[in-house]
Amino acid sequence: MVATKIDGRAFAETVRQDVARHVAQLRSDHGVTPGLAVVLVGEDPASEVYVRNKGKQTRECGMASFEHKLDAATSEAELLGLIDRLNADPSVHGILVQLPLPLHIESNKILNAIDPAKDVDGFHISNVGLLGTGQKAMVPCTPLGCLMLLRHHHGKLDGLNAVVLGRSNIVGKPMAQLLLRDNCTVTIAHSHSRDLESIVRSADIVIVAVGRPEILTGDWIRPGATVIDVGINRIERDGKTKLVGDVHFDSAADMAGAITPVPGGVGPMTIACLLANTLTACCRAKGLPEPS
Ligand code: NDP
Repeated sequence: MVATKIDGRAFAETVRQDVARHVAQLRSDHGVTPGLAVVLVGEDPASEVYVRNKGKQTRECGMASFEHKLDAATSEAELLGLIDRLNADPSVHGILVQLPLPLHIESNKILNAIDPAKDVDGFHISNVGLLGTGQKAMVPCTPLGCLMLLRHHHGKLDGLNAVVLGRSNIVGKPMAQLLLRDNCTVTIAHSHSRDLESIVRSADIVIVAVGRPEILTGDWIRPGATVIDVGINRIERDGKTKLVGDVHFDSAADMAGAITPVPGGVGPMTIACLLANTLTACCRAKGLPEPS
């Protein structure tokens, strides 16, 4: 392995400590406690783990955590009713609806019902538009976490060639917007892209968010490039369940200059950025200076 391992777990810890410091100051100086409401519909085991972790880390940072676990048969109208109540609740500064939602509920309708000022996931169409036009927006947590890791590792990203593999609304597209905002030359590739290998080989930075276990191998990577692996895939290997990324770590680490592991890379940054976004939303709601 020649690559530097980018330690997302350690960096996320520094972000959380920073958030906790600001939260303590908000409380002592202004008597304000940021509050995050997380809504889970149904019993998807992976989502339950995420929601539990989010609640735990929210409380550890000194914020209020409001968890709403709803039955899988909850109707769209009932869920919209809950969103309305959370929008109106002054103790709630951030609202996150855990995806995926059951099929009978239209996700976009729910996401767009959230008050954009409380939309800490950054999925509301207003925040998508603000980000796309370079205005102050709530930025989706996973791409924000990737950007923070990249800035921490590279300093300025100005002029670098960045390839984003995957064009989902929650990772690929906002990631590309953020890299563009930081003056990268950005290529977005997807399942219809031709000659993916040569596209990837042109990159100084590769962000992989496709949801295919270990699809990107070392021979695709330009020597010295930075590889950010967003993928989280559970696979069976040697009779055990294992968590792997979208990147084949060992071969990629022999070519890359720096690489994020799975687990311990992007994943921990996602929750840390959710906490940071909740703090930001609270400061904006109270007209207080935002943490930088
Ligand atoms: P989606 O399934 O929504 O999007 C996948 C994207 O990858 C699509 O744009 C698809 O192309 C593209 N794609 C699929 N197969 C290929 C292929 N063979 N070659 C090129 N492109 C391909 O996934 P998400 O963006 O939601 O998530 C991606 C991964 O990131 C998943 O493993 C997920 O678990 C993980 N994830 C991790 C998070 C974290 O906190 N670390 C948070 C969110 C997601 P097309 O559009 O043409 O179909």
